[in-house]
Amino acid sequence: MRRSLVVGNWKMNGSRDKTRALLGEILAGLGQLANVDVGVCPPYVHLPDASELLKGSSVLLGSQNVADQDEGAFTGEISAPMLLELGCALAIVGHSERRMVYGESSALVAARYAKAIQHGLVPILCIGETLEERESDRTFEVIGEQLDAVLNSSGVASLTKAVIAYEPVWAIGTGKTASTEQAQEVHAWIRAKIAKLDASVAEKIQILYGGSVKGDNAAALFSMPDIDGGLIGGASLDANSFLKICHSA
Ligand code: PEP
Repeated sequence: MRRSLVVGNWKMNGSRDKTRALLGEILAGLGQLANVDVGVCPPYVHLPDASELLKGSSVLLGSQNVADQDEGAFTGEISAPMLLELGCALAIVGHSERRMVYGESSALVAARYAKAIQHGLVPILCIGETLEERESDRTFEVIGEQLDAVLNSSGVASLTKAVIAYEPVWAIGTGKTASTEQAQEVHAWIRAKIAKLDASVAEKIQILYGGSVKGDNAAALFSMPDIDGGLIGGASLDANSFLKICHSA
């Protein structure tokens, strides 16, 4: 049986004080969860504070991106070794805001993914279609291409050290959640695509759902057979909502 994973993506929110307060509330309310891992991805500059606060807890620390290089003249980038030094275990790659607002191509996302894998940081590979792509029946073509960019460069075996997050772009931060059936359909398709290359990898890979997951819709989404938890944006900034989601997994 696959373990569940719930990860909060705090995006560009908070302050040092808010980071301490939010993590304090999460740690106080989490308790012992059977078969569920929990992670948080604060902004880069708050990772040292978060790392300090999470010492000795089971909550995983993650970054919101990772460089496709180890070091050098790459202004604004943060490398996998730097993130590992701060205690990160996870790194989001290919979030739709990076792909769409900052123009990150699938090739760049694949290179970032490869660096995370190479250094032992678990990439959370985000894939998902826009509303226009869904309405023109291109959902599987688009997420297939996004997955292929990684499979062709790092190989299917790399997925044993990675997590996938299906995040329909039209559901992110919009309050529109994919129905449980819509989400399950895509998750099952992703698993079947991987199974064609390696059935055992497909069986083990955690596929998270992301897109307006809240305390009141999480349990239904997480009850679907191919949904192994969630990547949570807005609701992860409120301790009570995030804890409710974690306890639903
Ligand atoms: C996200 O940005 O990864 C996300 C899922 O956001 P939200 O939960 O706010 O839709």
